[in-house]
Amino acid sequence: MTSLRPDEISSIIRNKIEQYESTLEVSDVGTVIEVGDGIARIYGLRKAMASELVEFEDGHGTLGLVLNLDEDNVGVVVLGEYTFIKEGMTVRTTGRIASVPVGDSLIGRILNPLGEPIDGKGPLNTTKTRAVERVAPGIVARRSVYQPLQTGLTSIDALTPIGRGQRELIIGDRQTGKTAIAIDTIINQKNNDVICIYVAIGQKTSTIAQTAKALEENGAMDYTIIIAASANETVPLQYIAPFAGCSIGEEFMEQGKHVLIIYDDLTRHAWAYRTMSLLLKRPPGREAYPGDVFYLHSRLLERAVKLSDKLGGGSITALPIIETQAGDLSAYIPTNVISITDGQIFLETDMFNAGIRPAINAGISVSRVGGAAQTPAIKSIAGKLRLDLAQFRELEAFAQFASDLDKSTQDQLKRGQKLIEVLKQPQYSPLSVAQEYTILFAANKGILDDVANDKITEFKSEWFKYFSAKLQDFETVINTGKKLSDEDQERLYKEFEKFRDTVFSGIEVGV
Ligand code: ATP
Ligand code: MG
Repeated sequence: MTSLRPDEISSIIRNKIEQYESTLEVSDVGTVIEVGDGIARIYGLRKAMASELVEFEDGHGTLGLVLNLDEDNVGVVVLGEYTFIKEGMTVRTTGRIASVPVGDSLIGRILNPLGEPIDGKGPLNTTKTRAVERVAPGIVARRSVYQPLQTGLTSIDALTPIGRGQRELIIGDRQTGKTAIAIDTIINQKNNDVICIYVAIGQKTSTIAQTAKALEENGAMDYTIIIAASANETVPLQYIAPFAGCSIGEEFMEQGKHVLIIYDDLTRHAWAYRTMSLLLKRPPGREAYPGDVFYLHSRLLERAVKLSDKLGGGSITALPIIETQAGDLSAYIPTNVISITDGQIFLETDMFNAGIRPAINAGISVSRVGGAAQTPAIKSIAGKLRLDLAQFRELEAFAQFASDLDKSTQDQLKRGQKLIEVLKQPQYSPLSVAQEYTILFAANKGILDDVANDKITEFKSEWFKYFSAKLQDFETVINTGKKLSDEDQERLYKEFEKFRDTVFSGIEVGV
């Protein structure tokens, strides 16, 4: 025979009452038991879900994001100003998960990671929102990368081509031109039907302002959205910024459009996540990052896809940026992101300081899937370019010691130097396919061999002028990106000879 003890009975009754209430209550109410550094611990939110938004009754409607579900309390990061939140304050669950406004009216705007405009141009004209976190499309939803995304930078388009839907990492020490590459790529999308999203994470506000100005001046804000989570923004906002940017991009992608998204930079994003995790008292691992910092970036970058034709064929191309310390690629975050992405563009301080800009080290930069998407015209000459450059690098090292070099070695060195000059490119001047093709063609066919190294920049700019003024029809043909027929190549060669002998005056025989 079993008999129930009174305290058991009362606990059962209490349970029943509690369950009865839970079917009626819309929101769950809790109390702040601890707050500081943008983190709040809340007691009593028994029904809170991970990633749910909670609202503090601080008179400002401040929102928090539930991240830790502990046994007796909930760890919440405060999205926004946390100074008004006090111990003992009431908190309610909202039943919503973190989301951002999406739609066409975001284009041309500067927003914070919550999607609120910070450019003073008034409210957004949209009511649609999307969750910030989303599971990336699966295998069936995708097709492999096959359309080029021209960066307008000859060295990238020729040596590490990027395809729509690809994730290509830009990695290098500080001040090596990482952001410059991203900005030039955005500028080059002007007539390409690509919507660009630039996510600035943990940068100085002045730097972001400069970037916005550069984009504006180059007419790129007509198709660009900036998400700014500057260094003085709270850590949780920096943490959600790239996810918010990605959600905004997904809206366009699902309409069958192409999107380019820049995460500048994920090193600072990882720092923000580390700070947040340590404050939430999650156990630290290598370099004090939490155990799931790999997952943090993999789930973000997996959302860059090329959708199948059945789903509209839209794409998100991601260019994450990582800053290294003294070129160390084997640190924790760089190796993580290298292993997640489909290739990397490695920038080197020495080259940058030597004036070789963009300072791309072609030897260790790769693009694992972009080859399938490379413009056929460029592809037809890129192979030789790669080989010539590799040989040049090999010879360059030992040529410093040997005084007597045979003719063929000298020729190879000379050719390499011309190529290095050809690949130099100033900021804000992306090149068209035809411009890239013709100048590489000239280098490959030896037309530049007699042009002094310091005259090559001049040769290039004069050729581009001549080319678009005199040979417009031909330029249009090459710009389609199709491989050139033998006759066309013959014609181009003749045109170059004519240009070199009659128009360009910088030839110095015997250099
Ligand atoms: P940080 O680590 O501070 O983010 P970064 O690696 O993003 O720097 P940028 O800000 O892009 O580097 O560039 C550093 C400086 O070099 C800038 O002043 C920029 O104008 C200049 N620069 C970048 N690329 C080129 C280029 N191709 N030609 C000439 N100057 C360049
Ligand atoms: Mg930068």
